[in-house]
Amino acid sequence: MHEAIIIGTGPAGLTAAIYLARANLNPLVIEGPEPGGQLTTTTDVENFPGFPDGIMGPELMDNMRKQAERFGAEFKTGWVNEVNFDEQPFTLQVEGIGELKAKSVIISTGASAKLLGIPGEKDNIGRGVSTCATCDGFFFRGKKIIVVGGGDSAMEEANFLTRFGSEVRVVHRRDELRASKIMQDRARENEKIVWSLNQTPVEVVAEDSGLKGLKVRNNDTGEEQLLEADGVFVAIGHTPNTKFLGGVVKTDDTGYILVEPGTSRTNIPGVFACGDVQDHTYRQAITAAGSGCMAALDCERYLEGSAAQDWSMSL
Ligand code: NAP
Repeated sequence: MHEAIIIGTGPAGLTAAIYLARANLNPLVIEGPEPGGQLTTTTDVENFPGFPDGIMGPELMDNMRKQAERFGAEFKTGWVNEVNFDEQPFTLQVEGIGELKAKSVIISTGASAKLLGIPGEKDNIGRGVSTCATCDGFFFRGKKIIVVGGGDSAMEEANFLTRFGSEVRVVHRRDELRASKIMQDRARENEKIVWSLNQTPVEVVAEDSGLKGLKVRNNDTGEEQLLEADGVFVAIGHTPNTKFLGGVVKTDDTGYILVEPGTSRTNIPGVFACGDVQDHTYRQAITAAGSGCMAALDCERYLEGSAAQDWSMSL
């Protein structure tokens, strides 16, 4: 029987682990198949405070893990298949570990950027292909950039990337954008943005020397063409990793966990959420870490018994 189980080892889960471990609550942290989360697929992280020269994503996550271990957090590798939050203690069925019981659970399973699933894409993540303009835009100063997608994320990323790129080309598979009018207008007014609509991405083309560009197929003519670029940003949405919850924790209609505003409390007393799994707005390592701290403090108060009485069920 554990006091607290943390599911997920991105900046949110590891920050929660550091705080709970320092509070002598000996959290058990369950690591999935991608320990460290999205930051382990990036290279330099230059916007996490405290590292004036930047730090490599995997190193940052490794440091956070060591910091949690130093204070007594325990780590196990497994995949949570099923949860039972109907009664105390909560039960988790974890592939690779077995059944676990806990008084409280912190969900920090993150979100995964959707990928196009085309040749050359996955192999070049961190080598010209990115899913995060805020993280990687800086590396493309004065370079040609492509943003794939037609939604608000793509418009936002394209606008943001014009600060760095010599040209930003939006590639969208239809001739109509999905983005809200205001976001479209903003992008259309930006002279650095050029448009390739009605083009389906078919391949990310790279050579040893670096990225060459994105091959696209014109939907009307079937003609294929290489759009030259040094960077390809895939901005076609994110999927929060909440399937394993089986619908017992309240989410919005896109799957993001709902928390009581200003807290990390879910609709179930004793179950908390932090990081990208409950945040489709900011999605930064530092905001995830901050929300992990909130979850740990909320969890501590719950375990002390001081929060159980005033749990808001208003979600
Ligand atoms: P989204 O609205 O679902 O848009 C995804 C875009 O990617 C769509 O244009 C879609 O094309 C395209 N796409 C999806 N799969 C694709 C594939 N396999 N190949 C090529 N293109 C593909 O996602 P989002 O832009 O991330 O936005 C998610 C939510 O967050 C929305 O509610 C949005 O309003 C909100 N958001 C708001 C802001 C803001 O207000 N500042 C910023 C970002 C996001 P189709 O159009 O053809 O389906």
